[in-house]
Amino acid sequence: MSLLIVGSVAFDTIETPTTSRDNILGGSATFASVAAAFFHPVQVVAVVGGDWEKSHTQRLEKRGIDVSGIEIVKDGKTFRWSGKYLENMNDRETLDTQLNVLGDFQPKLPDKFRRAKYVLLANGSTKTQHEVVDQLLGPELVIADTMNLWINIEHDELLRLMKRIDGLVLNDSEAKMLTGEANTVTAGRKLLTMGPKFVIVKKGEHGAFFFAEYETYIVPAFPTENLVDPTGAGDSFAGAMLGYIASVGNTDPETIKRSLAYGAIVAAAAVEGFSIEQLEQLNRDTVEQRMSEFRKMTSF
Ligand code: AMP
Repeated sequence: MSLLIVGSVAFDTIETPTTSRDNILGGSATFASVAAAFFHPVQVVAVVGGDWEKSHTQRLEKRGIDVSGIEIVKDGKTFRWSGKYLENMNDRETLDTQLNVLGDFQPKLPDKFRRAKYVLLANGSTKTQHEVVDQLLGPELVIADTMNLWINIEHDELLRLMKRIDGLVLNDSEAKMLTGEANTVTAGRKLLTMGPKFVIVKKGEHGAFFFAEYETYIVPAFPTENLVDPTGAGDSFAGAMLGYIASVGNTDPETIKRSLAYGAIVAAAAVEGFSIEQLEQLNRDTVEQRMSEFRKMTSF
């Protein structure tokens, strides 16, 4: 059962209250692919510029990710994003977004990718997400992630996309912004009426909500004291979730529920280092160890 992830690959510049790092490997597709690859082989589609270094792609290949769908635009520049975390390490400010080659990205899926059964439209332009859906041949599950920038500048496209996907992932403030509701539960339920079969609302260090017609779940964040850089937590959550679902090969409520727990575990690992550094230290066994700790912490 193939798993396709389409999104951004980036050079990030990150400021936290204690440290800053320039031009490190980031992007929604990067985090999501590395997270998903703990569970299932991943095919990734993204675009980079002539400034891309081969060593970055090799880091993904080492995780078993098929990078043949990363297009290189030689005379363009890779997408750059810069963010600054406030003292609480939960809220952040975007300092700079340079879309560069991501601005004109028109993904062309190779034939073998078009047949993917599980698809994550990681955070990126809604127009690009539509173009991916247009090319898919019979997917079983399509999940889209989005953010405030796209809610603002591609609002109508996003409303249209919501009718073409199975699941929507977004954070709390974005769910409220998209629905005009002040309460997370009300916002989540309203989003359900707008197209998707399920909605996941992420609340950073406070975990995530899952809303579907049949059930509502909550999953806490996996507790960590070692918070280094929250960047990529959301993408890692979505990637791990879909990776786990693809590994099981069904979308039963029980599978989805477990996938949320895996999402929380892998997201917590992502924040324990800059870029994908800490994720690179883990393997499926260490993820499973954390899963059994998580089970103990959450059973009552
Ligand atoms: P997260 O912390 O999970 O929201 O994801 C952060 C990652 O998303 C960073 O590595 C950025 O490079 C990437 N990113 C930030 N803004 C955008 C955007 N407008 N479109 C696509 N990716 C983005």
